Amino acid sequence: GSRIGVLGGGQLGRMMALAGSNLGYHFVTLDPTPECPCGQLTEQIVAGYDDKKAARLLAERSDVITYEFENVDVEVAELLERLSYVPQGSKLLYTTQHRLREKAAVEAAGVKVAPYAEISSEMELREAVSRLGIPSVLKTVTGGYDGKGQWVIKSEAEIGPAYSELSRAGTELVLEQFIPFVKELSVIAARSPRGEVMTFPVAENIHVDNILHISIVPARVEESVLRQAEQLAARIAESMEAVGLLAVEMFLTEGGELYVNELAPRPHNSGHYTMEACTTSQFEQHVRAICNLPLGKTSLLSPVVMVNVLGEHMDAVAKALTEEDLTWANSKVVPKLHLYGKNGSAPKRKMGHINLLCSHVQDGLDWIQQTKIWRNQHS
Ligand code: ATP
Ligand code: MG
Ligand code: MG
Repeated sequence: GSRIGVLGGGQLGRMMALAGSNLGYHFVTLDPTPECPCGQLTEQIVAGYDDKKAARLLAERSDVITYEFENVDVEVAELLERLSYVPQGSKLLYTTQHRLREKAAVEAAGVKVAPYAEISSEMELREAVSRLGIPSVLKTVTGGYDGKGQWVIKSEAEIGPAYSELSRAGTELVLEQFIPFVKELSVIAARSPRGEVMTFPVAENIHVDNILHISIVPARVEESVLRQAEQLAARIAESMEAVGLLAVEMFLTEGGELYVNELAPRPHNSGHYTMEACTTSQFEQHVRAICNLPLGKTSLLSPVVMVNVLGEHMDAVAKALTEEDLTWANSKVVPKLHLYGKNGSAPKRKMGHINLLCSHVQDGLDWIQQTKIWRNQHS
């Protein structure tokens, strides 16, 4: 088939469509916002993700269906599976949209997660905090992103407020032991229906206020940690029989241990560096995987630093890309800008990203500081 339907029309769908267009595919997206990042680029069905009539329309217009976010209504995913071809299957969504099911799947693959407890009452929370210790992290099991739907419990006095705040969402909660990590890493694995698995190089991720700020590749950790991280991501993708991309976020401790934080069955912000820095980008790899094409090589072509461009950075970006001294005089860095065509810019809204190709990642980090796209801890 040559038509790919995508649930969601955000920046991930946009970059997927850009990559897939180069392979000759035509894209149809389903998104409730007419001015979404895919709106100008692809055919769009303007409707809610839970709209079954719209889902039928998407199935009619597509040969293969995928998604760019994991909070797709499982009923809709099952409907699409019956009406069209959803190579990733609804089970992958069902697992990854729920933190408890996801942790069980990671553990079933023989990989560690932070010790955790399922929470359905304040009493259970008190008991779990005394067992897992302070600090610990309370999270809603579904729907969270960019740190929304979580609370780091730093004292016993916070147990009550944390519970009442998060239980308002009406979902179950999970308490996780706080992992005092030295680094956050991620690996994106790809698996095709024929069982081929490839992983991308490990990214070292720096978050500020729970939003990804920078990814650094190669990650500045020992070679043995890189190999372990890649292997565990591949093992999880195999064990879950995932199809398409599976992003694996993890914590590295002082003692060299890796704990998986969470998974995402889609292109991931920490994989944007692959667009110019790898033989195959994560977006092309996803299209290859869901279309059962041979997977592409994932070799790193150059060290790279990816920085997210948020609404508050738009002035600095305009300046950095137009002023001669920053773009040309600093010959150590090749900045590649990607903007998502979003309508309104707002603080903390992801407007784009820049991939900084460099001989040494420190040069990329210096460039970010010079151009003031740098975010301080707790900006
Ligand atoms: P995303 O936008 O990546 O989907 P999210 O809202 O799903 O984020 P998590 O990835 O679960 O949230 O957590 C956000 C960040 O909070 C992590 O990247 C990490 O920095 C910190 N964090 C979360 N859980 C823990 C933990 N158990 N121990 C230490 N830090 C944690
Ligand atoms: Mg998440
Ligand atoms: Mg995360």
